[in-house]
Amino acid sequence: MSRLRANIKVNGIVQGVGFRPFIHKQIKDMSLTGWIRNTSEGAEIEIEGEEETLDRFAAELWTKKPFLALIETVNVEKSTELKGYVDFRIVGSKAAASRNTLISPDVGICEDCLREMRDPKNRRYRYPFINCTNCGPRFTIIKDVPYDRAYTTMAGFKMCPDCYGEYTFIENRRYHAEPTCCPVCGPRLIYMDPDGNELPGDAIKNAAADIKAHRIVAVKGLGGIHLACLFDDEETPARLRRRKQRDEKPFAIMCRDAETAARYCEISEDEKRVLESYRRPITLLRKKIRGSLRQISENDYVGVMLPYTPVHYLLMDEGLDALIMTSANLSDLPIIYRNEEALSELRGIADAFLLNDRDIHTRCDDSLLYVVDGLEYPLRRSRGYVPFPLTMKGADGMILACGAEQKASFSVSKGSYVFQSQHIGDLKNIETFDNYEKQIAHFERMFSIEPKALVCDLHPDYMSTGYAEERAASEGLPLIRVQHHWAHMASCMADNGLEGDCIGVVWDGTGYGTDGTVWGGEFLTGGYSGFERRGSLAPIRLPGGDRAVTEIWRAAASMLLDAGMDPEPFFGRERTQLVRKVLASGLNSPVCSSMGRLFDAASALAGVREEASYEGQGAVLLETAAAGGVTDAYPYDISGGEIRRFEYGRMLEAMVSDLRAGAGKDAVCAKFMNTMVDMAVKMCELIREDTGLSRVVLSGGSFQNIYMLTRLQPLLREKGFEVFRHSRVSANDEGVSFGQLAIAAKGKSPLQGF
Ligand code: ZN
Ligand code: ZN
Ligand code: FE
Repeated sequence: MSRLRANIKVNGIVQGVGFRPFIHKQIKDMSLTGWIRNTSEGAEIEIEGEEETLDRFAAELWTKKPFLALIETVNVEKSTELKGYVDFRIVGSKAAASRNTLISPDVGICEDCLREMRDPKNRRYRYPFINCTNCGPRFTIIKDVPYDRAYTTMAGFKMCPDCYGEYTFIENRRYHAEPTCCPVCGPRLIYMDPDGNELPGDAIKNAAADIKAHRIVAVKGLGGIHLACLFDDEETPARLRRRKQRDEKPFAIMCRDAETAARYCEISEDEKRVLESYRRPITLLRKKIRGSLRQISENDYVGVMLPYTPVHYLLMDEGLDALIMTSANLSDLPIIYRNEEALSELRGIADAFLLNDRDIHTRCDDSLLYVVDGLEYPLRRSRGYVPFPLTMKGADGMILACGAEQKASFSVSKGSYVFQSQHIGDLKNIETFDNYEKQIAHFERMFSIEPKALVCDLHPDYMSTGYAEERAASEGLPLIRVQHHWAHMASCMADNGLEGDCIGVVWDGTGYGTDGTVWGGEFLTGGYSGFERRGSLAPIRLPGGDRAVTEIWRAAASMLLDAGMDPEPFFGRERTQLVRKVLASGLNSPVCSSMGRLFDAASALAGVREEASYEGQGAVLLETAAAGGVTDAYPYDISGGEIRRFEYGRMLEAMVSDLRAGAGKDAVCAKFMNTMVDMAVKMCELIREDTGLSRVVLSGGSFQNIYMLTRLQPLLREKGFEVFRHSRVSANDEGVSFGQLAIAAKGKSPLQGF
């Protein structure tokens, strides 16, 4: 048997996931000698030993690894020149010019740490910042790479001898855990009154007592600050809404455990698995009793998450079972994440502040998803997921895709890795836009990406478009403009790893069309290299433009008039006359083919809702109002021509006569959505006849509607279609940047297209 030296370069998610200590232990067990270090490309291991043992070690790297690690490549170089290592060591990080390191998302507290935290004999008993190699803050505290304590917001906390001993002792589960700390050396909780005076006593006990007394307490978490309070009465949530100026948007809740959540909601095995995963997303669960918990959510679902920081568990351990846990931000501004900011911005909102002296470097909202047919269906991909890369096969180069506007995200790529940003928010707010620019710079630095091309939406007024234009001009980079719904379609294709051409059913609120009108109820065909618009909704005029987005009865009145019916019985004389006048003037009445607006109109007509206080409220409440078990649909027409059109005239007539005959809105809403589903199937069949395509992708914000999503998929499959929906990125505008990137990275001649 010959002794050899092997140099092994491991690429993938190997930093900040306990990889080095894990490998150290493996190597010790195998009696090899040498060293391991983090590099900017991942990790480098150099070992000496019997060839057979070296080979076995290299082969096992793929399977024997810490649970967070994701091994992408293993490169082994063997040599006969021995260096004579006598032991195995973890050596200092090597900072190199090119970085290809991945960064772990934040990880919810693990079972081992939880046990120690609850053990009175442990030196970290009730310590609110306990963490280890397998859990704790990551993305939100990292300022730069490589992932070393010195480059995190823990840099200022010097490890005490005990912690340092654990950190350097191979058998310890905190071996090389960068944020490790204890009551002696680590951060501490601070409980403050609204004037910023620290309150005496046990911070956790005091905060829990205040919450039990129905006060509202700001609680600093991993990626930002939450507002916590009880919801066992009507008054407390109502007070929170008043103070937060959040009239009707649902609040998320945090439950002690899945069993507690099951008191309020239905939970499947799959939902339980996702809830309890280390990512700890807010999972939308169906209420056990329809119409219950109206103080937190006006629809059929409640967003539930389980505790994920030690502080959350310590609070729950004081006898709290379920709390409202909502992001601390003002209306649509970004989540508040700094102590000073919390004290100034939340004045008059929070009654007390449970803060700490560990800074959050990067704000990151809670993730939000449904679990559909056992798979995740993201609405917001953020904490716990970001900045894990999404892989995109066949992609190459470095590209920055700037995304859309309202649910903004961006994506940067390096080879086949796509790093999609966390939830950023609505770029129309200057604070949000500032954060958008800052995060782009942070991502480019962390992943060492210098974009060679930029991608943006076709919409000339999006802030993201402006950003892309300016940057392309100043850096002399090519700028690719991608039509909004094409990006949605490509996003769903790339989410599913599809190549070639597909049919895209893309339904959403608004997106700028290639003809300059607003689109949003689209049937496209194509792939990453180009698309054709095959079908759409018949144009709807929106009297008053943007006002029709909040005063959703306007769309209904306009459509009724268009179909030759009188809106007056529904919306009164005054409003009818107003709409007639605006439409007759031809001023400020843009034309759109938006599914979002069609839902608004149906919602207003059915008497569900005439005005919306947040985007998409009409559609959400229509879905909520719908009865189960209704299978029939309304009649409608599809007109021919180059672009097939869904003509809604006969549907409106039938809806009106249903309502006149005293039909309940539950039946009307269900029949309306059944009509949309039926129409989608018909359209896809017609397009298949024209093109021979039989793969269908479903994307766009309207597919946040679970009623439609779960009915359309099986019906299309029954007709012989292969159907794909999102599971890694969001169907809504947050997913647009991913689709833009796919088109730029994988399209054949993107620069000649839009
Ligand atoms: Zn842990
Ligand atoms: Zn310590
Ligand atoms: Fe969209």
